[in-house]
Amino acid sequence: MQIAQRMSLLGTETAFEVLAEVNKLKASGKDVISFAIGEPDFDTPSNIIAAGVKALQEGYTHYGPSNGLLPFRESIVRYITRTRGIEVNPEEVVVVPGAKPIIFYGIVACINEGDEVIYPNPGFPIYESVINFVGAKPIPLPLLEERDFRFDVNKLKGKITNRTKMIILNSPQNPTGGVLTEGDLKEIAALAIENDIWVFSDEIYCNMVYDGEFKSIASLPGMKERTILLDGFSKTYAMTGWRLGFGVMNTELASHFTRLAINSVSCTATFTQMAGLEGLEGPQEESQEMIEEFKARRDIIVNALNGIEGISCRKPGGAFYVFPNVTEVCKRLKLKDSKEFQQYLLYEAGVAVLARTCFGSRNQEEDQEYIRLSYAASRENIIEGVKRMKKAVEK
Ligand code: PLP
Repeated sequence: MQIAQRMSLLGTETAFEVLAEVNKLKASGKDVISFAIGEPDFDTPSNIIAAGVKALQEGYTHYGPSNGLLPFRESIVRYITRTRGIEVNPEEVVVVPGAKPIIFYGIVACINEGDEVIYPNPGFPIYESVINFVGAKPIPLPLLEERDFRFDVNKLKGKITNRTKMIILNSPQNPTGGVLTEGDLKEIAALAIENDIWVFSDEIYCNMVYDGEFKSIASLPGMKERTILLDGFSKTYAMTGWRLGFGVMNTELASHFTRLAINSVSCTATFTQMAGLEGLEGPQEESQEMIEEFKARRDIIVNALNGIEGISCRKPGGAFYVFPNVTEVCKRLKLKDSKEFQQYLLYEAGVAVLARTCFGSRNQEEDQEYIRLSYAASRENIIEGVKRMKKAVEK
């Protein structure tokens, strides 16, 4: 039986392979502390769970509109106005199962074969995968440690050609925790307008900014019409398994997203949307406490990692990831790269992390090694895990 050629273009998220390996080791009795998974270790806030259960009991068990239930989209409109300071209407909102489909729909709907799409590297691997899938050319934009993992806007300028159709932003960022400044956003916006480029703004970690305020590029003058804004419930409300996300975009593009939804998923589970509505409109304490805890853990993990000889870790501004430089440790242990270090830590220290290469291939001038640790893990596990790392690399 044949598999279609286009499937060879589609990449994957190797984090899931590492997770499978970790789970296999755990099942065989090995004690592993995992910093590999990109999801909150908290349960969904109780008021949201109660709203989901109530919705099921009230009959939210049927198909709903393909772009999402109107009251839910209206509550997203209020949330966007509150958090981004822009006026949107419900026809500019498309609700999807998890935020990920917004990436897929955005690239499928806006990008032709041969077009160029600029995306952050290291970055969430799905961007590059889908760019390749539609036959477009992925143009990686290096994130720089010396700039706290922001990119150099002048480098971005140099990558824009007459084939560039989209630039993808992700701030706060996975895997580095980097946050773009308002100054960066203004410069990027000017380039997007001047060159008539779509901006895809992945804002899934927008509520996890620890120093200062979150800023969206969609809020800048002239940007709303050309921005595809992605946000969702997986991170802010610890709802990864519910599958609930949304995109905000101009009405014309929204109609194409809705058609893609009709062709792929029909609609998002309606009781999940009612739970999401409670998330946006109900008490925020549990979500806020979780985010406060992430901030405290960030400081704990950064300090602990910097206490290991040969590891240096910048303090990230957002999300729940740190991205320490492990070049010296790799050299000292005679490990070829961060992938070997990832395996070393897993088997020698019982600590699961992800190598830089899980987030795209090395940039041309990149000669440093990095790993990603998610600090969506308990304080005890953070302290014990980093202690194990120290023991394994300083011996
Ligand atoms: N965008 C980024 C940068 C992410 O890190 C993730 C999840 O890890 C997503 C999008 C997808 O979120 P969801 O699980 O809601 O599909």
